[in-house]
Amino acid sequence: MDACVAVEKEVDKVLCKFTAFQDRSSLLIRGLYSDLENIKKQIDESEASDDCFTLRDSINLLQNQILARTKEIITNLSTEHRDLHSSVSKVGKAIDKNFTADFACVSHENFFDEGKQDMINEVICRHYLREGCLNVAETLIKDTGIDMPEDAKVPFLELNCILTSLKVHDLEPALEWAKKNREKLRAQKSSLEFKLHRLAYITLISEGQHRIKEAIEYARRHLTGFVHQHEKAIQTLLGCLLYVRSGLENSPYADLLSSCQWIEICEVFTRDACALLGLSVESPLAVCINAGCTALPVLLNIKQVMQQQQVHNMWNSKEELPIEIDLGQNYRYHSIFACPILRQQSTESNPPMRLICGHIISRDALNKLTTGNKLKCPYCPVEQSPSDATHIYF
Ligand SMILES: [Zn+2]
Repeated sequence: MDACVAVEKEVDKVLCKFTAFQDRSSLLIRGLYSDLENIKKQIDESEASDDCFTLRDSINLLQNQILARTKEIITNLSTEHRDLHSSVSKVGKAIDKNFTADFACVSHENFFDEGKQDMINEVICRHYLREGCLNVAETLIKDTGIDMPEDAKVPFLELNCILTSLKVHDLEPALEWAKKNREKLRAQKSSLEFKLHRLAYITLISEGQHRIKEAIEYARRHLTGFVHQHEKAIQTLLGCLLYVRSGLENSPYADLLSSCQWIEICEVFTRDACALLGLSVESPLAVCINAGCTALPVLLNIKQVMQQQQVHNMWNSKEELPIEIDLGQNYRYHSIFACPILRQQSTESNPPMRLICGHIISRDALNKLTTGNKLKCPYCPVEQSPSDATHIYF
């Protein structure tokens, strides 16, 4: 935090100087402009006058004066502008001084080995596809030569196309998609299709009294099918018709017109469509980077402590960090099993194993407790064969 404050101080200084420069330069330029306007007026007048020679002489003199002043102002302004560069570069220096630029020490030793680069490129590429930046993704595929199957792009393209339409309040593509995937959406208890029709209905009534008939017709055609799951919501939608004439915005139903409805529908669509296509709602790359940024200060601190104690490798062979880092509620995705015998977190190579009595211990504990070909459960002393234990997946 101190680092941010220090950099912010420098940025504020630069902004202050920029504003002062801008104010001064626009004042000077405005002054010059009005002088020029004056001269122009005098020239026009001199052309109309009889005694044009004397006037022209004085105008020439004025012109020369104003030219000299313009040159002086421009030179001064450009010198001042040059001085701003040193203030800007001070911000860069403040960033270098206050932040750690080299994070290589906290990453896994072989992380950027050959072969892994392609995987990283693919993850980046999928992120761009997911964000709808098709051109960037295509360029990355071309430049890195990664093998990205054509059909990997299709779901992202379709989702982005629909989301773009939703953002400009066009429900049609989303409705068509929901209709096409109706059965699957129903199976995952999604109310997406109802919410889309609901919004289409609200859009109609929000346009005023002249569309009420159309709205009722729409409700009959599209909302009646949802009566069983959304009875209350449909009652609200029909109840609000009473207030359309006097203005829905001043009625108890005003919240139906809230612009949040459109933000919500985009979220519902993204969540339900991603679930249906087996994609995560958030970009895995964005999640990794955000989690990494949150964990970085703790890792840098622990690295310093470990260096003092001359421990060099932060990552041990079990791919566990030397310290537990709490990333907060948003980054908790699944349960972790800790072995009650060895008090270690399970890993891929040391997974949780279910014994036939129902107790679960880690594979390492199971191997340690096995004598001959027999294993005695440490909780209920049921004797069993270690090969009967089954791998548990969370
Ligand atoms: Zn047992």
